Amino acid sequence: MAQRKPIVAGNWKMNGSVELVSQVCDEVKKYSNSNVDVIIFPPALLLSEVLSENVEAGTQTISEFDSGAFTGEIHAQLAKQLGAKYTLVGHSERRSIFKESDQQVADKFAKAQEFGLIPILCVGETESEREAGKTEQVVAKQIKAVISKLGIAALNDSVIAYEPVWAIGTGKTASPEQAQAVHKFIRDMLIAYDEQVANALRILYGGSVNEKNSELLFAQADIDGGLIGGASLKKDAFASICKSA
Ligand code: PGA
Repeated sequence: MAQRKPIVAGNWKMNGSVELVSQVCDEVKKYSNSNVDVIIFPPALLLSEVLSENVEAGTQTISEFDSGAFTGEIHAQLAKQLGAKYTLVGHSERRSIFKESDQQVADKFAKAQEFGLIPILCVGETESEREAGKTEQVVAKQIKAVISKLGIAALNDSVIAYEPVWAIGTGKTASPEQAQAVHKFIRDMLIAYDEQVANALRILYGGSVNEKNSELLFAQADIDGGLIGGASLKKDAFASICKSA
């Protein structure tokens, strides 16, 4: 079994400030080491601030386009030039609010890799999809959109984040068993394509992770860390989550 180094990633969404960058970074840079990768996804305007604190950072989304007349878009190549190493793609808020399709998310994934960013592909079902028993179907479809565009080998330089939409920002965390079941489903599905890629792939859990539930979640066999929203804006909570990975 491949040894997978856990990731604790903070998704600040459209929150935070220049002051918060130094507060959080001062605290969390102690925890990024050979045992865990700590990454902050600040609003794009704060990317350089985070990088200047010597903390790993990425963008919350990137454009699927090449440079040109696309007002307001974030270019993967520029994010890379600034020093970003990662980008989120397909976060549920991008899918629901900004109507990003599976195909568009796959295009963004491809553009990230083209310019040397590691995409963290976010997938997850809504509450009604879970109630209808469609969790696996939804998650499989979101992942297969990337595999059919780029092939299984593309997952070598990527990360997946399983984030049930009903758990994001709601305080309703998936139980460690519920989360593990979906993570194992994802890994087993990928083993059918390529065992080595599947076993090396880091699969993060996201959705109301906090300093109280992170340890049990991260202890699950197929959970390789977390993507943290609200709690990543609180330096002490985020530091505790980093310690528990
Ligand atoms: P949350 O957000 O931790 O506030 O639920 C997670 C996310 O949206 O990535």
